[in-house]
Amino acid sequence: MATTTDTDLTAADVAWDLEPLVDGKGEAGVDQLLDEAERVAASVAERRGTVVQLDAAGLASVMRELASIAELVGRAASYASLRFAADTTDPGRGALLQHVEERATAINTRILFFELEWAALPDDRAAALLADEQLTFCRHYLAAARRYRPHLLTEPEELVMTEKAVTGRSAWSRLFSELTSTIAVDLDGGRVSLEEALSRLSSPDRGERRAAAESVTDALEPGLRTRAFVFNTLLADKAVDDRLRKYQHWLASRNLDNEASDESVRALVAAVQARYDIPQRWYALKARVLGLDRLADYDRMASMASEESEFGWREARELVLDAYGSFSSELEGAAHRFFDEAWIDAPVRPGKRPGAFCAYTVPSQHPYLLLNWTGRRRDVLTLAHELGHGLHAYLARDQGVFHQTTPLTLAETASVFGETVTFGRLLAATSEPAARLALLAESMEGQIATVFRQTAMNRFEDLVHTERREVGELSVDRFGELWYETQAELLGDTVEITDGYRTWWSYIPHFIGTPGYVYAYAYGQLLALSVYRTYEERGAGFVPQYLELLRSGGSRTPDELGRIVGVDLGDPGFWDGGLAIVEQQLEAAETAAAEAGRIGR
Ligand SMILES: [Zn+2]
Repeated sequence: MATTTDTDLTAADVAWDLEPLVDGKGEAGVDQLLDEAERVAASVAERRGTVVQLDAAGLASVMRELASIAELVGRAASYASLRFAADTTDPGRGALLQHVEERATAINTRILFFELEWAALPDDRAAALLADEQLTFCRHYLAAARRYRPHLLTEPEELVMTEKAVTGRSAWSRLFSELTSTIAVDLDGGRVSLEEALSRLSSPDRGERRAAAESVTDALEPGLRTRAFVFNTLLADKAVDDRLRKYQHWLASRNLDNEASDESVRALVAAVQARYDIPQRWYALKARVLGLDRLADYDRMASMASEESEFGWREARELVLDAYGSFSSELEGAAHRFFDEAWIDAPVRPGKRPGAFCAYTVPSQHPYLLLNWTGRRRDVLTLAHELGHGLHAYLARDQGVFHQTTPLTLAETASVFGETVTFGRLLAATSEPAARLALLAESMEGQIATVFRQTAMNRFEDLVHTERREVGELSVDRFGELWYETQAELLGDTVEITDGYRTWWSYIPHFIGTPGYVYAYAYGQLLALSVYRTYEERGAGFVPQYLELLRSGGSRTPDELGRIVGVDLGDPGFWDGGLAIVEQQLEAAETAAAEAGRIGR
């Protein structure tokens, strides 16, 4: 490996430039953008009560005004939130973000009537308008906005629902976050955060893992009944909402949000459940590699990495550009811009938001990537992943604000694809079996966490929502039983589930803040892998169709977007393609483990 400087290892000088978002005017630019948005919103507000009379040209003109509001507010909000993400401890940045959110809410409240009036239009009238060519730039958006039509209430009712949610659902949800964020775990004679304690589960030392797990279980005990009460309250709250809005089942509104058909979600869940043998086989292999008869729940995250080679930023950059280039020179060219034009903020800094993300911002600007670069192999794949999101946003920019963003279910198409290509190249460049095993292990753990674990969590949610509706409030023990049941189905007899693990549902924020959300991780990941599988099968001829898919952004329904690359999301066999990729990685890991002499005969 080339020698790297410290600066290169930490990517210390790789920072983004957010000024273009506010025309180089800094914080002052934020209010100018919002003032302008407010002026346009005032003009839109004059159309109140007249949407029903608009012809296609009139509707197109309102939609262009709404697009301009979304652009202006989007730029201000992107600037404020990205600045905040880069230093969350700076009170000035927090205050700016809050300020933008409050002004954006006020602006959006003024134009709320439009969607309601649009949704209230009779079907035949809406269809006639949408057939007009002048509305191409917002056709799918407008059609999709009407998907809530059967579930909308009257405007005064909607306003009451929105206002009361602040002291209802949102307040309960915030209480839960406050309760869980103050959970302190006694460990090593001191107190650490829950997150810190959970991270100890990846320790190579089994004793340390077990101790961490027991301490977490102890720390989850106080307040358990309160958290269960919050959960019960939100389950009931959702049941009421769903009844008032006439949703047929607990997951229906989430599927509608995701534009995912009930059939495709059922097919996904069934396909994954049918392959629980994959995680079980992985955990059996892992037990052998770790020299254990059987894993316990607290062993699943145990690190299998041997020595970690360090990556400098420049080396990573070349590797990722090369991976994208191997697939498409157009993508490689676009990827260059992210590095060359300060669209990435890479280094770890105090106060910076942890993790990594891609912010689409708005189509007239460009995406930004936030990373926390530590020079590990995982970071190279994260870079490839977030860059995939960025490229998707970049290629879809011509779709405009209404159609740039895909539904959540298709959001991972480019990121997981790019990550998988990069992974393949990293693996091909790694000949030593132990290093191959480490690489494959990391990938397998990721696939299991995203595809299988989220599906099992979806099964848990399914049981608790259903039981709250059909039976009534659930006790702490009952939550524990259903949690155990769905985990045991996933893990089979390859993993021992300890008694303490029965309360570990009680800190997971998604169940509280975004019910039904978790399956989307599995959906997005497996969809992307299944599309990748199609590429493997068809080769270079697939590339133009794939780029067309990315350029299409969210301009069509997921089913129509799938057809661009010739796949049928409603076909259960489609999901098996992605699972086959995971199974291949499992088999490669088994081979590498044997070659590395890490498993006995
Ligand atoms: Zn992603």
